[in-house]
Amino acid sequence: MTKSESLKKYREKRDFNRSSEPFGDDKPSKPKAIFVIHKHDARNLHYDFRIEVKGVLKSWAVPKGPSTDPREKRLALPTEDHPLEYADFEGTIPEDEYGAGTVMVWDAGTYRNLKTDANKKKGAMTQAIKAGHVTIWLEGKKLKGGYALIRTEQDKNERWLLVKTDDDKADARRNPVSTEPKSVLTGRTLAEIRKETTPKSKDSESR
Ligand code: MN
Repeated sequence: MTKSESLKKYREKRDFNRSSEPFGDDKPSKPKAIFVIHKHDARNLHYDFRIEVKGVLKSWAVPKGPSTDPREKRLALPTEDHPLEYADFEGTIPEDEYGAGTVMVWDAGTYRNLKTDANKKKGAMTQAIKAGHVTIWLEGKKLKGGYALIRTEQDKNERWLLVKTDDDKADARRNPVSTEPKSVLTGRTLAEIRKETTPKSKDSESR
């Protein structure tokens, strides 16, 4: 049972406009793990959505980036697991290297598995990914609240959708992908990161 389900009766009995008793938040309790969203200006600009699972960062490439509007379903294509240390990576991958281009830490924070009962079970996130249905609560700087990752196609055409859950953090008017473009790690723009981290070589002078 999720926390909001557990608190349903408590909330139904009270008018929080009249009583100063707390409404209570919907955040599930521990344990915490990290998540990071890299903005990656590679051949095509995209966002890499990564969540810590069993010591690695499970990763999906999200071409349009995440939305705060529950009606927006964003395509998410699974990519290879990345090391946990990659969460702090910001810089420019040289030309001719895999993923060449500039990488920004667009958002970062912690997340919890929204299936609170499952949190007590080891491997619950791994199972959720395997089952193709992940629901997590993000505590980032830009993104907060519930998100679902749902697999819609399997095997070689594997595709997922990243969708905001309809909770009190949902906001159809926000559009952080366009209005909050800077790094949460260094405050830099993509252009500033590119300028400061592109290796100086004869070949790259023109860029
Ligand atoms: Mn990428």
